[in-house]
Amino acid sequence: MASQPQSCDPITGLKPSENCAVVGYYGTDSAFEKLYISLRTLQHRGQEASGVAVFDGRRINLLKVDGYVFEGFKPYIEKGQTPEGTTGIGHNRYSTAGQKNLTGAGPFLISTSNGDMALSHNGEIVNHNELREELKEKGVPFLTKTDTEVMLNIIAREIKLKGVKAGLRSAMDILKGSYSAILLIQGKMYAIRDPMGFRPLILGKVGNSYVVASESSTIDVLGGTIIRDVDPGEVIEFSDGTYNVLIRNPATRLAHCMFEWVYFARPDSIIDGKEVYDTRLRMGMELAEESPVEADIVIPVPDSGRTQALGYSVATGIQYSEGLFKNRYSERTFIIPGETNRDIAVKIKLNPIRSVVDRKRIVLVDDSIVRGTTMKRIISILRNAGAKEIHVRIGSPPIVAPCYFGIDMKTRDQFIALNKNEKEVAESIGADSVAYLSIEGLKKSIGMGDMELCLGCLTGRYPLRVEGEMEEKQTTLDQL
Ligand code: SF4
Repeated sequence: MASQPQSCDPITGLKPSENCAVVGYYGTDSAFEKLYISLRTLQHRGQEASGVAVFDGRRINLLKVDGYVFEGFKPYIEKGQTPEGTTGIGHNRYSTAGQKNLTGAGPFLISTSNGDMALSHNGEIVNHNELREELKEKGVPFLTKTDTEVMLNIIAREIKLKGVKAGLRSAMDILKGSYSAILLIQGKMYAIRDPMGFRPLILGKVGNSYVVASESSTIDVLGGTIIRDVDPGEVIEFSDGTYNVLIRNPATRLAHCMFEWVYFARPDSIIDGKEVYDTRLRMGMELAEESPVEADIVIPVPDSGRTQALGYSVATGIQYSEGLFKNRYSERTFIIPGETNRDIAVKIKLNPIRSVVDRKRIVLVDDSIVRGTTMKRIISILRNAGAKEIHVRIGSPPIVAPCYFGIDMKTRDQFIALNKNEKEVAESIGADSVAYLSIEGLKKSIGMGDMELCLGCLTGRYPLRVEGEMEEKQTTLDQL
C-alpha cells in the first residue's frame, strides 16, 4: 500500500520503512484467531493500524484498529466482539504522515455485483494516479488516496467484465508496480504476487488449513509447515478446501527487494528460499573481507546491525561486544521539545556501555544508512563515553535513489551517500572511517544476481518504468 512520504522521526532519524504486512487464512478454525497471531508476528512491518476482513458464510465483516495489534484488538477480544468465520485476510499498516484515520488502513472492502470483495496489499502501484482518474471518470467513488483502493476497484471491474480468472489476469496487466496481495471474494481467497516478485509472499499449511503471509515466520509461529513461496506472477486460488494455481505469469526478470534481506524481514524468516539470518551474517563477513580495519571490538547498532556485526566479527576474529544498551521500553517514535534535548532523547533509546567502549578502537556496524542522522548521534555519544576510534561499517551498499515499490524512501535529498564518497560521509558523521558493502558483495551474500534482485535505490536504475527515472537498460548514473 502506497503511503505519504514519511515524516522523519525527530529523534533517531530516518530508517527505510516497510509499508505493510499481509496475511490470509483459509481453513477450519477461527480465522480471526489465526489472523491476530499472524499480525502480531508481522508487527515489524507496520505499526500504525491493523485490520481483518472475515467471511461469515454470508458476507465479509471488517474490523480495523489503531496502533499495535495486541492493544488495538484487545477490547474487541475481551468483549467477544471479533468477526466470526473460518476464512479471512489481515493487514498491518506502516505508520505514515497525515493519514491518521482508519479509512486508509487495510484491508479494503467493497460490495460488488459478484459479492463482497476485500483486499490486503503490500507494495506500491506506480500507475495508481492515472488509474484513479480513469475510474473516477467512470463514476467510481473513492474514500481514500491509497493505491490499494484503486487496485481493488480495477480487480472488481475486470472480474465483472471477464470473470475471475481472465479478470485477474487482465488486472495484473493493468496494474504496474509491486504487489503481494490477498483477495477475498465472499468465501474464496486468492494470493496474488506481481510478475517480478518485489515483495515476499509465502504459502503454508496449518492443520487442515492454509495460510498465506508476508513472511515464513508467521507459519512457524502458527505451528504450521511451509509449502512454498507464492511465485512471482502467480495467482493461487483457495476454494473447496484446497488450493490450485489459477494464473502463472512471471516476468522475464525478477526483482526481489534486496532490503528484505538487509533489514525489513525478521531474521527467522526465509524469503524466496534464502534464510534471512544467514544472508545477513554473510553480508557482515563479506563486508569484513572488503573493508577490514584494525580494531579492538565490533559493536552493532542494536537491533538492526546485530547479525551483520556478528558476521564481521566472525570473519575478522575481532571480539563482538554489545557497546550500546537499547531501551526496549522506549516508544518507537517520541518527541522531546528543543534541539538541545535531542542527544538526551537518543540516549533514552540507546546508551553506551562505558566499560565496553572506553579507550577502544571500535568497528560500529549497522545494516544500512539513509540520512546518517542516527549514526552521527550514536558516534557522538560513543566518543563522549571514551571511544578512541570509531570505524563505521555498513552491511549494504549506499542508498542513492528513491524507492517506488513500497519502501518509504521518496526524496533524494535525504540520502547522505548521494553526493558524498565514504571519506566525506565519515567527515559528516564524525567517524574515523566509513565503508559500505559493495553491490557485488550484497548479491553474493543473498545468492541472487541482477536478473533476480531489485537494486533500484542503489543504482538509480529500476526494473520497471517509473516516470522521470531511468530503466535498467540505461546503464550510466550520469543523469542522477
Ligand atoms: S528500490 Fe530499493 S527499497 Fe525499493 S524495492 Fe527496489 S531494492 Fe527495494
